[in-house]
Amino acid sequence: MRGRELRGELDAFLAEIEQELVAFRRDLHMHPELAFAEYRTTQRIADRLTAAGLTPSVLPRGTGLICDVGSGDGPTVALRADIDALPLQDEKDVSYRSTVPGACHACGHDVHTTVLLGTSLFLAQQAAAGLLPGRVRLIFQPAEELPGGALEVMAHGGISGVDRIFGLHCDPRVDVGQLGLRSGPITSACDKIVVRVSGPGGHTARPHLTADLVFALAKILTELPAALSRRIDPRSSLSLVWGRVEAGSAANAIPDDGIAEGTIRCLDENAWHAAPDLIKALLESVAGAYGVEAVMDYTRGVPPVVNDEVSVEMLAEAAERALGAGAVVPTQQSLGGEDFAWYLESIPGAFARLGTRSPDGVTYDIHQGTFDVDEKAIAMGVRVMAATALTALWDVGPIDSISNAMA
Ligand SMILES: [Zn+2]
Ligand SMILES: [Zn+2]
Repeated sequence: MRGRELRGELDAFLAEIEQELVAFRRDLHMHPELAFAEYRTTQRIADRLTAAGLTPSVLPRGTGLICDVGSGDGPTVALRADIDALPLQDEKDVSYRSTVPGACHACGHDVHTTVLLGTSLFLAQQAAAGLLPGRVRLIFQPAEELPGGALEVMAHGGISGVDRIFGLHCDPRVDVGQLGLRSGPITSACDKIVVRVSGPGGHTARPHLTADLVFALAKILTELPAALSRRIDPRSSLSLVWGRVEAGSAANAIPDDGIAEGTIRCLDENAWHAAPDLIKALLESVAGAYGVEAVMDYTRGVPPVVNDEVSVEMLAEAAERALGAGAVVPTQQSLGGEDFAWYLESIPGAFARLGTRSPDGVTYDIHQGTFDVDEKAIAMGVRVMAATALTALWDVGPIDSISNAMA
């Protein structure tokens, strides 16, 4: 079954189930759950999958689940949705408004979850009819916003044996019915840095007999970003920006410690990997010149999501198949982070932007209490995800060559 037949099958399936999916999304929207607390959400997904004859496996913490459709030794393609909500107040005046104070599905993860559920039900039908040429792993991931859910899934074998992985995210800047795609990096990295400096301290009359700690800290604050901009490829847009600095308590006393905190944002994966060691070396050299001790505490956020080109082509082919010609539009790299990136550090795959804007509606950005979607996007998402899984399974060849090339 290819192309036109698939579209007909999806039409028939969605005519039956679209209303149920919209109701499912609204129920999740009314009952948002924060990262690693998605117990009810997990239960609702598990119940519906079980009713469709599937066998979901809830992750050990009790939130999030994994479920395979189809079997055999053929290729395995994973589809991932994130299921958590944000700690924000829902500011919408709609019947399906959040019933939980201070929690809201303002990043559209209720839509992602519903899209993957609909896709699961369609693929289960296909498998039952003997039409699924491999295995599809459904990943309902907890805690994207924390982040950490992707690592939790991976720690429990969530992508072992998976050849390729796909995911999507609501995009209120793209019209419903369209899919935004881009090869290479599509989101950015954001890490946190804390620098602690220390020295003997002393009187400001005699800086030469001690270590002039405030001066040294000021040098670190200005020299580190400046040196980085000369040591890292400028195309990576790596930027270190300080947000907090503190040292000393009196005008005439050199303190014995001080602290600076900041963030590192980066569009490029290689630069992101190189950043901690490079920053540490630069820090030690600046601090050493002024005789102070400097200790760096570097906290990784997420790497950039870097889309594999072959996987993007599969998504494009699937979107044309399932949504029609002209459905694919180019999209830009965003400065936001997305923990789907962790999967792509291990296996090839791609992340797409699902259009959720009503062509004549108002656009509200994600991470705002007013965020909402045109619910026609749910059926569009099901079409794209189902067609993508099938396209990737039909197209086994490139998977082998890609994994060999990466090995
Ligand atoms: Zn978000
Ligand atoms: Zn999100």
